[in-house]
Amino acid sequence: FISIDNIEKSYGEGENRFQVLKGVSFQVEKGEMAVLLGPSGSGKSTLLNIIGGIDTLDNGRVGIDNEYIENMSEKDRIAYRRKNLGYVFQNYNLIPNLTVRENIEVGAYLSKNHLDLEELLSVLGLKKHENKIPSQLSGGQQQRTSIGRAIIKNPNLLLCDEPTGALDSDTSKQILELIEKVKEKYNTSIIMVTHNENIAKMADTIIRLKDGEVKSINKNVNKVKASDLELWKTLYLKDY
Ligand code: ATP
Ligand code: MG
Repeated sequence: FISIDNIEKSYGEGENRFQVLKGVSFQVEKGEMAVLLGPSGSGKSTLLNIIGGIDTLDNGRVGIDNEYIENMSEKDRIAYRRKNLGYVFQNYNLIPNLTVRENIEVGAYLSKNHLDLEELLSVLGLKKHENKIPSQLSGGQQQRTSIGRAIIKNPNLLLCDEPTGALDSDTSKQILELIEKVKEKYNTSIIMVTHNENIAKMADTIIRLKDGEVKSINKNVNKVKASDLELWKTLYLKDY
């Protein structure tokens, strides 16, 4: 379904040139959850941004449903992204002057077969907060809003960058259960970035990245439900 072929990416020029991704390849099947695991600076966000079409690549290709993103015209690429991809950012990226409801609604405009906004607001536990703007929300509420915006269009592929990176363990569990629910209900393919080994236990496939290279790809035979994960130290900074 998704084929990542030999992706290379460098930043900077001349002496300052730094290769972030050194030929990364893997595949994700329809309905599969792959977790990208790796230390800070290993290139996880860069890779996700390339898959999501937010950043460009130097070499390699990203194929979805036998179509290579690189071969599409700019117009087709944007249309493709709007229709097929949901993106949950590491730092939420909500629109500051729109309410919770409006931030999620933005996602619905992008797709014809979008999910029901009222139902989603309830599932996300945001009904009470729907008229607040992001600065009036807790981190977990902001993260739930950003997940709402990504999933309301019912994307084929959901990209999540540290979706619980800055949250406490109870809130993290709720967010992960929500992502799990979406996957089960809609057979969504998911690529989720984390540096947390425990969170990786809920994946179908665990891809380990180090210094811009794939170290290993493993089918996860002892998959754990999000509700059973042990997340006693989820907080982002504590892991360093
Ligand atoms: P973290 O777990 O801290 O989020 P990460 O694995 O997501 O880390 P990336 O954000 O992909 O790491 O960054 C990988 C490397 O690329 C880092 O050394 C970073 O400084 C560098 N980098 C990322 N974006 C840019 C940019 N736009 N220009 C220059 N260097 C960049
Ligand atoms: Mg990152």
